[in-house]
Amino acid sequence: MARAIAAAGKAAPRSRGVNVKRRLWHFHGGLRLPGHKAESMQEPIHAATLPDRLTIPLQQHIGEPAEPVVEVGQRVLKGQLLARASEYISVPVHASTSGTVSAIEDRAIPHPSGLQAPCIIIDSDGQDKWIEHAPINDYTGLEPSALRNVIREAGIVGLGGAGFPAFIKLNPGPDNVVDTLILNGAECEPYITCDAMLMQEQPRRIIEGLLIMKQALQARHCIIALEDNQPDAWQSLNDALEEDEKTFIELVKVPTIYPTGGEKQLIKVLTGKEVPSHGLPLDIHMVCHNVGTAAAVADTIHEGKPLISRYVTVTGDTVGQPCNLEVRIGTPFETLLEQCGWRDDRNDEIIMGGPLMGFTVDNPAVPVIKTTNCILSWPTAKEQQTPMPCIRCGECARVCPAQLLPQQLYWYARAKNFDRVQDFNLFDCIECGCCAYVCPSHIPLVQYYRFAKTEIWAQERDKKKADQARERHEFRQQRLERKKQEEEERKRRKKEMLKKSQGDETDGEDSKKAAIEAAMARARARRDEKNSQSQSGDKEDA
Ligand code: SF4
Ligand code: SF4
Repeated sequence: MARAIAAAGKAAPRSRGVNVKRRLWHFHGGLRLPGHKAESMQEPIHAATLPDRLTIPLQQHIGEPAEPVVEVGQRVLKGQLLARASEYISVPVHASTSGTVSAIEDRAIPHPSGLQAPCIIIDSDGQDKWIEHAPINDYTGLEPSALRNVIREAGIVGLGGAGFPAFIKLNPGPDNVVDTLILNGAECEPYITCDAMLMQEQPRRIIEGLLIMKQALQARHCIIALEDNQPDAWQSLNDALEEDEKTFIELVKVPTIYPTGGEKQLIKVLTGKEVPSHGLPLDIHMVCHNVGTAAAVADTIHEGKPLISRYVTVTGDTVGQPCNLEVRIGTPFETLLEQCGWRDDRNDEIIMGGPLMGFTVDNPAVPVIKTTNCILSWPTAKEQQTPMPCIRCGECARVCPAQLLPQQLYWYARAKNFDRVQDFNLFDCIECGCCAYVCPSHIPLVQYYRFAKTEIWAQERDKKKADQARERHEFRQQRLERKKQEEEERKRRKKEMLKKSQGDETDGEDSKKAAIEAAMARARARRDEKNSQSQSGDKEDA
């Protein structure tokens, strides 16, 4: 993004904040960037056009894809379950309108790889008819686990961009205590304003969602944080908190420095605490959720609605009327761009997300998914800046909010030395793009980090598969060995029994023989006695 930096990496001025008692800290590095926010905040949020066809990917979240529970040709209603969670780290997807399932097949999805993935296609019947759904009248009577289950079944994921299943982040586990629940409204990347507009227009949805999340986490304190360049959003939230007497929720303005909205950076600014390397906010008793996620949770509990739509900023230099729209999941990008006065120039670069963390989408027909916060369109740069060799200027390290050494990461990622790149904490990189933004050699640093991460994950997957195959083989060998031993033991026992029974037979014959011999001996003795008696009688007669 060839936009000038107002001031790179300057220390943040201390914000007074709403709650003057809360001291604010600084995170390392960061950038002050031109916001380009006002363009898309001129009009209230309005509904996007209902397209004739919706393409709903089975995987719109971190984790395993959902499994279809509908068939081609089946009629579905708005909000109906289309695919159920397949594993623990997975969430269901639902129909965004009523109609007919016309296909279940691979389609282009918004992903940096540009690859296709399994999707359920719904041909809209134009009626937009809801399935029966009902609110939970008193969620305060529900156990945290029951609340999490409702949130899971509604298919809610983090709407800030990462797409992690919300119910998992609402489960601290039996041994953890959540001290502070932070709602992240610090929408720090330029151009994106969907969270700011949500805070401005519907503060109560956010507050209600926060209270539900507080109950699920059993959190002690709650903070809503937003950047100090959103005074209208702050006023709106502040008014709602005061009117509803929810002043125990802290509303805090943080300095507008990119990337304050990063989870670790926001925690540092608000509390001065560092999330450990390779660790989670929960390790320091904090949990962070996006304001949009909170609003989705409120819709689920108070209206019984699953996550089937979200707010999307449609903006950029080639968009005639930049604005924020409420969009059904599955709506093609081009439908929204056309609704916002896009001039349909195929040479435009279309980006999902912001200019620093987003990625280019080659096909404008890809659908909006749960993590689509912004669609940005501008003319493709006429001249691509050619990367030059690294001059070791150190600018990248100066602005890195994760306090990494980006040039070392680049060097080892480029050399495919994946052990060394991890020694330099590659996985602490939040891919904020600050380093690439300031690099005078125009090296696409983040692309190297993404490449290295993808390769390491692929290697780990392969290793896991190989380990599983080895375990299966070892298990089979053990089973065969055990079977062999059991067979040998069985044969040994049989042999022994045979031997024993043969021994018994021999003993029987011997005793029989002895009895016969004894009987014969007795007969001989009787005969001899008889003979001797007759001989003595003859002598007496003589
Ligand atoms: S900013 Fe660019 S040129 Fe400077 S040290 Fe980092 S990678 Fe090298
Ligand atoms: S992309 Fe990664 S390495 Fe570069 S500045 Fe951001 S966190 Fe640091």
